[in-house]
Amino acid sequence: MSLLDRAVVTLLPAVPKPVIMRISSRYIAGPSLDEARRVVAGLNAEGKLATVDVLGEEVGKASEAEEIAAEYVAALDAFERDDLDANVSVKLTGLGLKLDYELCKRNVERVVAAAEPTNRFVRIDMEDSSTTDDTLRLFRELRDEGHGRVGPVLQASLRRTVADAASLAGASVRLCKGIYVEPESIQFRDDQDVRVSFVQALETLLDGGCYAAIATHDEWLVDRALDLIAERRLGPDAYEFQMLLGVRPELGDRIVADGHKLRIYVPYGRQWYEYSLRRLKENPKIAGYVAGDLGRAIFRRR
Ligand SMILES: Cc1cc2nc3c(=O)[nH]c(=O)nc-3n(C[C@H](O)[C@H](O)[C@H](O)COP(=O)(O)OP(=O)(O)OC[C@H]3O[C@@H](n4cnc5c(N)ncnc54)[C@H](O)[C@@H]3O)c2cc1C
Repeated sequence: MSLLDRAVVTLLPAVPKPVIMRISSRYIAGPSLDEARRVVAGLNAEGKLATVDVLGEEVGKASEAEEIAAEYVAALDAFERDDLDANVSVKLTGLGLKLDYELCKRNVERVVAAAEPTNRFVRIDMEDSSTTDDTLRLFRELRDEGHGRVGPVLQASLRRTVADAASLAGASVRLCKGIYVEPESIQFRDDQDVRVSFVQALETLLDGGCYAAIATHDEWLVDRALDLIAERRLGPDAYEFQMLLGVRPELGDRIVADGHKLRIYVPYGRQWYEYSLRRLKENPKIAGYVAGDLGRAIFRRR
């Protein structure tokens, strides 16, 4: 962590909430579903798809997990009513994974039951390494029970990921670098090693007949992914690109203009503040981006 990143992380809780909100408003739709609907409508108008995340991780009570599941159901209903092209991304700890696996599974099933009738997809985000096995287990159980519109995420920074990709033949899998900092024994530290792992995992997914959701803002990886897609002569039903709301929109515009599907990850919810702080603490790299943003915000005001 650079000195600047460390300073930003340490000072963050002292930064006034409105300032954090202003910085994070680029990355978060807002506190309520109405704001998420507006953002998704805007993205759809630009030819971009969406996957919506209700903020809330690691709940302490079953009732909180059930509330989050209910919010997802409300969001799916709203997308259908508004004719929006949007799926959802869920976090298992938000749906109760650390409280009780079966409770969490029931909550996921509730979201899936709301998504399936309208052909919407439920992506299960991947969290820190303490959840990897349970996340893949829950995905496999749902798939074996006949739910086809559910898929997991793999993190290229984990050493296990190429092997996991090989075990997921035929699935719809989002591949990202991974945001959580893990022990070096299980995670690549070097950026180039992570890129190599990403490319190998992507090749494994594509060759295993998976639908690949390629989630990155790293232009080098986007170009490499395009090479792999062209080499295999894959049609647009075999893959999509995914990016986070507010991050490198010019790269997203290029992907869309070149005729590829692009889905934007749109977080919203009352827990926007906690989410922003946690993300920043989890990944010091992002602190650097925020420092840059804060700098720009300060200078723009002059
Ligand atoms: C759609 C989507 C879903 C994701 N789901 C998960 C998940 O389930 N589990 C998980 O662990 N991680 C997830 N991630 C996060 C991912 O793991 C990375 O942490 C993040 O995408 C940054 O990696 P990168 O591939 O963009 O490469 P980087 O090398 O980190 O970034 C490339 C460039 O993009 C820009 N950039 C990247 N991130 C940001 C940012 N937050 N703010 C401003 N600029 C930025 C910078 O200019 C940077 O130089 C997801 C990412 C995306 C896009």
